[in-house]
Amino acid sequence: MDPLPLLNFFTEHASKQVKNVWPVPGKRPTPSLRSPYVTAAFAKAVDTLTAVCLSQANKPGQKVALTVTLPPDDRVIITLAENRCGVEDTGEFLQQLWVALKSLKSSPGESAEKSNDIFVIVFRHGVRRLKRRIKPLWEDAMKFYAFWQASTTKSGDENIHGRLTAVFDILRTLVDNLSEANTPTRAQIVDIVTQMDVLYRHCEALANARARVKQWCNEYAQASEDAANFPLRQYLRGCLDLYINTMSLIDLTTNPDFDDMFGRTLHLKSLQPEISPLDYPLDKSYWESYIADILDRCEIMGTKIPKFQRAMDEEITHAIATAEKIKSAPLHCELRLLSHHHMSLASPPEHEVEAETATPPRNYIGTSEPPCYACGVCFHAYREKSPYHMLNNLDRMYTQSPILRVDVPWAMPNFGNAQLDRSIHWLVFLTFCLDYAKFICHQFGLLQLPHSLETKFKWAY
Ligand SMILES: [Zn+2]
Repeated sequence: MDPLPLLNFFTEHASKQVKNVWPVPGKRPTPSLRSPYVTAAFAKAVDTLTAVCLSQANKPGQKVALTVTLPPDDRVIITLAENRCGVEDTGEFLQQLWVALKSLKSSPGESAEKSNDIFVIVFRHGVRRLKRRIKPLWEDAMKFYAFWQASTTKSGDENIHGRLTAVFDILRTLVDNLSEANTPTRAQIVDIVTQMDVLYRHCEALANARARVKQWCNEYAQASEDAANFPLRQYLRGCLDLYINTMSLIDLTTNPDFDDMFGRTLHLKSLQPEISPLDYPLDKSYWESYIADILDRCEIMGTKIPKFQRAMDEEITHAIATAEKIKSAPLHCELRLLSHHHMSLASPPEHEVEAETATPPRNYIGTSEPPCYACGVCFHAYREKSPYHMLNNLDRMYTQSPILRVDVPWAMPNFGNAQLDRSIHWLVFLTFCLDYAKFICHQFGLLQLPHSLETKFKWAY
């Protein structure tokens, strides 16, 4: 039985109906940064590096993940996986960035100038992402600003008023500058970064007056007829995201903990994306019998009640609509890396040259956004089933904690070993089924499942 069609029931539609209930939180082990294999600082460094690789935030499709390998010689190997490889020039960007980071490290006397170089490289690569952070909410931001100016000018702290006015002035300049510059020149980027620097200082001061700012947002939400709620803090955080990540990166470069890493010569290995075709049947009877089978295997009682039947009918309609829309699934980039490392350690290269090595990666996969629910399930299944003693602790591979949302389409990874693949697929499907069963039991007040379901589960892969 194919586990993947079940994910079509784990869609946004289902998630919205029961926010924070499905998939059931808390059960899945999330990676801990107290691991002996990777420090919190290292994890942060890798995530920050991955985050700046992303050039089109909020646009579905671009996700980046990477690992760092430090062989016994003077190489550092970054293995890069993207959901859409080759489109965003991420490899070229990383090479440029690494040269600038190394240069900053080797000549601390010129740190201001070298830091500027890093800002220019990161902002040039991320300029579209910066636009997407600032512009889509700009009109809402202006409405909030107009309301705030009209209602609070006579009261309160002049300093904070001045700060907020300055913030909106800078944002207005940024919106204008970003409209002009599709491929900005160095001078334009330096100008944008200078404005970001001032914006950051104002926002820091506003963060200290959090209660006052929150009060303004509440007043705005209450006064607006259409209950407009402007998330000022999140908006500003989004605008500053790239700037803050660049600053962190500069800090990390000068941190002695990373002397070894940034002192090495970078070799980059870009993995080609893996895309699997999805061709689910579109007839209703297929989906009805598929889900009836799942419900039966999970031994859920009371599924004959009309309310439940009607709701399932609607879920099936949504699942078919999803199947109609989505015809292929990329292997999510973090899983692409995991399966790549697994397979290359199972049959290591003969020669240690450039990006080829028999050394396992450090135990952390940096991701441009937290892994999705299904990837989290898959990492867990890999940890449970992989022969870790043979594979240099790859089962202790950590990532950011997964979010409780499914990014459909999703594809199952293979690890080049039929037996291992089968046992991982089995555990992934079992977890999907149990979570789905819990979700509908919770939603419809149906009989809860027994705890030792794994032993009772009427299914073998
Ligand atoms: Zn994923």
